[in-house]
Amino acid sequence: MPARYPSRRLAPRSYPVFLQLAGRRLCYGQCPMTLREPPPLSASAALFLDFDGTLAPIAPRPQDVRVPVWVLPALQALSTRLDGAVAIVSGRPLAQLDAFLAPLRLPAAGAHGAEWRGASGRISRQLGDPPLAVVHAARLLVAAHAGLILEAKPSGFSLHYRARPELEGECHDALFAALAAAPEASAVWEWLHGHCVFELKQRSVSKGLAVRALLAQAPFAGRPPVFVGDDVTDEDGIKAVQEAGGFGVRVGDGDSQARYRLADTDAVGTWLTAPMALRPAKEKDQA
Ligand SMILES: [Mg+2]
Repeated sequence: MPARYPSRRLAPRSYPVFLQLAGRRLCYGQCPMTLREPPPLSASAALFLDFDGTLAPIAPRPQDVRVPVWVLPALQALSTRLDGAVAIVSGRPLAQLDAFLAPLRLPAAGAHGAEWRGASGRISRQLGDPPLAVVHAARLLVAAHAGLILEAKPSGFSLHYRARPELEGECHDALFAALAAAPEASAVWEWLHGHCVFELKQRSVSKGLAVRALLAQAPFAGRPPVFVGDDVTDEDGIKAVQEAGGFGVRVGDGDSQARYRLADTDAVGTWLTAPMALRPAKEKDQA
């Protein structure tokens, strides 16, 4: 039986519950943390990791994110121990992920799967130009309100409102209305509502599809997959690995279909670095 880690270090006993009221996010109370901490990672696993809020704490602005000191050595060691089956799966473009994690250049999916790179280094892209009416709606919001940040992506864009959380309702209504007013565009594009961000992406790409594409290739193929992510945008990836016989880990609060939960990026670091005593690969069937 593998050693278990102290649960208090990895997951709190409760998490805050928020209510959405007139566009404002209000803390309603505390709810019991019902998901368990994940078991130690098996050496036979394929590991998929979100970036913001999972490996690196979320910063007020996307460009202000700092990568904790444990991340690069841990990713390097895990990649070696898992025979290269470690990938980053993020809403950020591949180029940004590579810059944050240099000199590492891991398999990765960027822009919610609109571009992804397997272990061979070959990059696949499914790019598209976002509908102009929606871009204009976002630009109007940014022009009207200081603190909103518009971030261009290889396919789509993000509107960040972390510095102006009181504008969530207004941003939501304007952006969703702009897309809904263009039925042809609505058939191709959709909004993701993450932590203080609205992200426009093509319906034909997702973190889940990117995970499935990587799982079809060496060295990921045949390994029980594990996905770790902190946001609603990670649920597709969590669903994909659990359908493939692995498990998902939700970081922080919020509803999730994941089987396990870790409290924050520090807890992710504890979990990922502690098992440099990785579980032996012969326990492959349990991920
Ligand atoms: Mg995230």
